[in-house]
Amino acid sequence: MTAQILDGKSLAAATRAALKQKVEALVQRGVRPGLTVIIAGDDPASKVYVRNKTLAAREIGVHSQLFEYKKDVSEAEILQRVAALNANREVHGILVQLPLPKHIDAARVLETIAPAKDVDGFHEANLGALMAGRPGVVPCTPLGCMRLIEHAGVQIAGRHAVVVGRSNVVGKPVAHLLLQRDATVTICHSKTPNVESITKQADILIAAVGRAKLVGAQMVKPGACVIDVGINRLPDGKLAGDVDYEAVKNVAGWITPVPGGVGPMTIAMLLENCISAAARENP
Ligand code: NAP
Repeated sequence: MTAQILDGKSLAAATRAALKQKVEALVQRGVRPGLTVIIAGDDPASKVYVRNKTLAAREIGVHSQLFEYKKDVSEAEILQRVAALNANREVHGILVQLPLPKHIDAARVLETIAPAKDVDGFHEANLGALMAGRPGVVPCTPLGCMRLIEHAGVQIAGRHAVVVGRSNVVGKPVAHLLLQRDATVTICHSKTPNVESITKQADILIAAVGRAKLVGAQMVKPGACVIDVGINRLPDGKLAGDVDYEAVKNVAGWITPVPGGVGPMTIAMLLENCISAAARENP
């Protein structure tokens, strides 16, 4: 079997095109969606992510603004900035790029963002809403995973979904989204014995670990839908996912590539969250 490739790049492009029309409709009503990104320190990967996010926002007509701070910025200064953005009616989305410098309490910063403007969906109010199955802002990467699965037409209800990884930003939220869609969900983590015996049962397998090529062909049920969230830098500088793509594509029914799978969908979902926030503020 050769898996169908779930092309996140083209789905993200189609999503952005649809979002651009929503932005135009909002602008006609006098509302320009606004996204503000805060970055502190000089982590090169974070700088690339932030640049991609602000460029993508601009391309579809979302006003984007970037506050860049040196790595010795005080926590108080960041908190003050967030408070000012919370009060600014032209700002609909606030994103604080992680990681923050170590002396800053990232959790405190994230909790300071007004939940309605928390376009990353990391505020406890939004994570709690997700767990309770109530409306809220859903984290971008898990939402992007769901869109890829839906777009492929893969049945979710009644299927066994296995999520490898239990972080608050990917593993746990995606598990809840799958549960909301009536999948039977198992979450594996670093203390799970014999992960392979569980992943082999998965109709839908989500890998969100951060270990290059951890998921081999022997861990995958034939015909499964495999979503690879991992982004790992190999010694030769190339990017690899958490899934051994070349091997698994011969077993899976569907598979996301890295790059070009979940990554572009994450940015598209960020834009969607920002535009939805602007629309909610201006009904
Ligand atoms: P994280 O916070 O480091 O969490 C990793 C999870 O994997 C943890 O729950 C950990 O278990 C588990 N784990 C580690 N080794 C394992 C093993 N051998 N077997 C089973 N589980 C294991 O990472 P994250 O933030 O969720 O990110 C995961 C990956 O996705 C990273 O490569 C990251 O770069 C990527 N990512 C991509 C996007 C995107 O847009 N494509 C967005 C976010 C993240 P414990 O909890 O027991 O430690």
